[in-house]
Amino acid sequence: MTRRVVLATRNEHKVHELEQILGDLVGELELEIVPVSAYPDVEDVAETEVTFAGNSLLKARAVATATGLPAIADDSGLTVDVLGGSPGVFSARWSGSRAGAGATRQEKDRANLTLLLEQVADVPDEHRGAAFACAAVLALPDGRYAVAEGRVAGHLERVPRGENGFGYDPIFVPDEQGEGSAVRTLAEFSDLQKNAISHRGRAFRSLAPHLRELLT
Ligand code: IMP
Repeated sequence: MTRRVVLATRNEHKVHELEQILGDLVGELELEIVPVSAYPDVEDVAETEVTFAGNSLLKARAVATATGLPAIADDSGLTVDVLGGSPGVFSARWSGSRAGAGATRQEKDRANLTLLLEQVADVPDEHRGAAFACAAVLALPDGRYAVAEGRVAGHLERVPRGENGFGYDPIFVPDEQGEGSAVRTLAEFSDLQKNAISHRGRAFRSLAPHLRELLT
């Protein structure tokens, strides 16, 4: 019997990445992954915690309670060494209202990236270390839950490059570059290549055993 699981994100890029990352597991566990947008009555949850795991748990629990179904959430962001780990949990709203009222997610992403580049403009190459981090959570309506984390280390470029991915991808160069000689930003990786090394890919692959245990 197919088991419905609600994905607690409205970010279409994330939905797309997670569908790919969870692809095999969906078949194995006979899951039907439905984005939370399929439940219009479920309200957005304010991300009031100060850790990725805390916010992720908040989102997954709220959706599991509101829908009565198992819910999966992720919270993720970019941590920059020289900024003491910021933007971190504030990655999605780093530039505040700079993008203007009614800005699309892409416009907000671009404003966030531009502000961050300005902030680290005079930081020399050897101090431009950064990482993407992700906490993935499965929460059940009965209160049980599991958390798993993933990380990918790299450094910040000075000029955005690449058209794939989203958010800060065009200025993040992962240490793990895979095949080829060119140094690529994450926005120059294919979806498959990104998922293989990304914070989100790693977090959800670590969550897989918990999905198997809690959903079967
Ligand atoms: P969340 O939706 O609250 O988890 O916020 C995540 C924010 O972190 C996004 O809006 C992006 O700015 C950034 N972020 C998270 N994951 C990625 C990624 O894979 N690539 C680029 N930016 C990311």
